[in-house]
Amino acid sequence: MDNIARGRLSGGVRVESRVRCWECHREVEDPYLDACPSCDGLLEVSLDLEPVKEMAPSDLRTSPLGVWRYTPFLPVRPSMAVSLQEGGTPLYGCAPLASDLGVKALSVKYEGANPTGSFKDRGMTVGITRAKEIGADMVGCASTGNTSASLAAYAAKAGIGCLVLLPEGKVALGKLAQAIFYGAKVVSVEGNFDDALRTIREMAAQRLLYLLNSINPFRPEGQKTLLLEIMDQLDYRMPDRIVLPVGNAGNISAVHKALKELEEVGWIDSMPMLTGVQASGSRPLVESFRAGRRDFDPEPGPETVATAIRIGNPVSGRKALDAIYSTGGTAVAVSDEEILDAQLMLGRREGIGVEPASAASVAGLRRLLDEGVADRDEEVVCICTGNALKDPDTMMSQCVRPYSSRPEVAAVLEAIR
Ligand SMILES: *Cc1c(COP(=O)(O)O)cnc(C)c1O
Ligand SMILES: [Zn+2]
Repeated sequence: MDNIARGRLSGGVRVESRVRCWECHREVEDPYLDACPSCDGLLEVSLDLEPVKEMAPSDLRTSPLGVWRYTPFLPVRPSMAVSLQEGGTPLYGCAPLASDLGVKALSVKYEGANPTGSFKDRGMTVGITRAKEIGADMVGCASTGNTSASLAAYAAKAGIGCLVLLPEGKVALGKLAQAIFYGAKVVSVEGNFDDALRTIREMAAQRLLYLLNSINPFRPEGQKTLLLEIMDQLDYRMPDRIVLPVGNAGNISAVHKALKELEEVGWIDSMPMLTGVQASGSRPLVESFRAGRRDFDPEPGPETVATAIRIGNPVSGRKALDAIYSTGGTAVAVSDEEILDAQLMLGRREGIGVEPASAASVAGLRRLLDEGVADRDEEVVCICTGNALKDPDTMMSQCVRPYSSRPEVAAVLEAIR
């Protein structure tokens, strides 16, 4: 029965959950398994949402905006929650940016406002709570940076040990500093992210640690709250399109799962077009979407300035393609230059500081509008996944790019002269 988590809600509603294989639906009891023992498929939590059908979104509004408002959709015990008050991030209306891009309405969901500066905190609060539930005393992950920064902070909060493997020389400075600062043991591994992940999975298989990469089925459960929160903030008015940067594709898959669950409980009756953006130098899913495939070929040498999406073999790639096809969305690749332009636009037109991977969502939207794939009449939400301070080197290099200052600044300077 240890596999069944129950959450008690204010209204006395309980949710039950099981872990199943996404491919063959086999139920998996061993909490240390990170893949299906029959077919090696990804594991997923399935929730019995029957009791939630009696509820309305407004029933949840008694607790503050944030991950733990949505306990009926979370497969862990809220009483054991290890929380840094994650979520509850701003949804900015961006009229100036919308008009620059030529789209009817654009909002930016600013995940850089999370406790460690990225959306990873949403999944991590649930993942670490699960680690506590099963009595793990050591957690670990492989990471392009933000997962390790987040895991290190939550492990500190929970009082458990933390090991992170980072691909050598390919992690933005702010993220590396965070992981060390919060007290994780940080080991750099030769090779790229995919190599680091293989190594840490071997350690988890030997039960040396509880693995908290996004193959862990509990992390996407927390990440679902990104979508739940957007719906709350929009008062359940469905946007036409949601645009996300895609690395391992955990986030876009979690958003899709949240949409399916909202549909199941009857809180929504349509879905936005889920749109995934990859960097040109790291775009296995875009290639396969173009070919109309449901599977993809990994890219051996991913390269992009957007380190958080420098992923050649996306763990949840097949789920992401499913999310895109079944919502009528699309996948698009953008160059590093387009990413950096979008990062600068967000900063200078809206005062929103994001790391390069996050700017990929806006760069992708811009390209889709220019190509006529996205309609100028749409209402769009772009997810900006992480904070600009994560990658100070890129920020500094942006500062030397030509900047046409606003006319009033030029006028003042002229007056002083
Ligand atoms: C992890 C991360 C991504 C990619 O998310 P996936 O779930 O791996 O697709 C994008 N941006 C930032 C800032 C991230 O930390
Ligand atoms: Zn299976």
